Amino acid sequence: MPYILSTQAMDGFYGTFYKTTIAMRKQIAAANWKMNGTYQQAESLLNEILQAKIALKPFQEVIFAVPFPYLIMSNSVVANEYHYHISAQNCYHKASGAFTGEVSAEMLRSIGIRYCVIGHSERREYFGEDNALLAGKADLCLKNEITPLFCCGEPLAVRESGNQNQYVADQIEASLFHLNKEDFSRVIIAYEPIWAIGTGKTAAAEQAQEMHSFIRSTLKKKYGEETAAATPILYGGSVKANNAAELFACEDVDGGLVGGASLAADDFIEIVKALKG
Ligand code: PEP
Repeated sequence: MPYILSTQAMDGFYGTFYKTTIAMRKQIAAANWKMNGTYQQAESLLNEILQAKIALKPFQEVIFAVPFPYLIMSNSVVANEYHYHISAQNCYHKASGAFTGEVSAEMLRSIGIRYCVIGHSERREYFGEDNALLAGKADLCLKNEITPLFCCGEPLAVRESGNQNQYVADQIEASLFHLNKEDFSRVIIAYEPIWAIGTGKTAAAEQAQEMHSFIRSTLKKKYGEETAAATPILYGGSVKANNAAELFACEDVDGGLVGGASLAADDFIEIVKALKG
C-alpha cells in the first residue's frame, strides 16, 4: 500500500497547489544463510548475485544475513551497491562483558553493519531466546544504529488451535512495544510461521496476507496509521523462486526472509525479481 512521503506547497498560475509524493514502503528480499558455506563460497555467491545486475527500484532492497566471520568481506563486496546491505544473524542481549563467544551490537556497528536479525525461531528454539530477552537485543541494536529484523511466528500446534494472531501479537508486543515511535519506525518485521521454515510447506498467500494485515493493524493501534503503513513486514517460510511472486503480490507482504533458496544464486535472483514494484 503506498503512503504519503511528503506534501509540498507550490505556487503556480492557478494559485497554491500541493505536490504530493507517494512512495512505496520498502520491499525487501532478505537472505538468511544460517550456518552454511565457506568464506570462499560466500564470496562467490555474493558476486554471482551482484553480477546479475537486477534493476531494482528505489524502494527495493536486498539484505544478506551472513555468518559472523563473513561480515567484513560481505560488506566490502556490496560497498558500492546502493540497494544491497549486509546483516548479522544475531547479536547478544548485553552490551559488553564476560560473555565468551558472544558478539555485541556495538561490535557489529564498529565494523559497519547496519542490520541484524533477531528472534529467529531457530534461536528461540535451540538457544532459549524469549520475548523479554529479545526486547534487550532490539534496544541494543537501535542504540547502535542497527536496524533489527525482528522475526515472529507461531508453531504448528498454535496454528492448528487457531490462536496464531494472539501468539504473534504477544511476541511483537513483548519485544518491541516498549520502543518509542521513532525507534520503532526503524524496525523491519519478518513473519515466519515455524511450520513453514525449512519444511517446503509454504503458507498460502491468503494465510500470509491475513497475518500480515493483522500485524499491521496491531502496529496501527500502537503507533498510528503512518508508522504502520511504512513498516516493512516480510514473509518467511519456504519462499522459493516458484512461489515468491504470488506471496509478494499480497498487499501487506513486503518481500521475504529466505533461508534455503537464498543459497543458490539463480533461485535468489528470481526471488529478488519477484519483489513488488
Ligand atoms: C528462514 O530461515 O528464515 C527461512 C525462512 O528458511 P526457509 O526459507 O528455508 O524456510
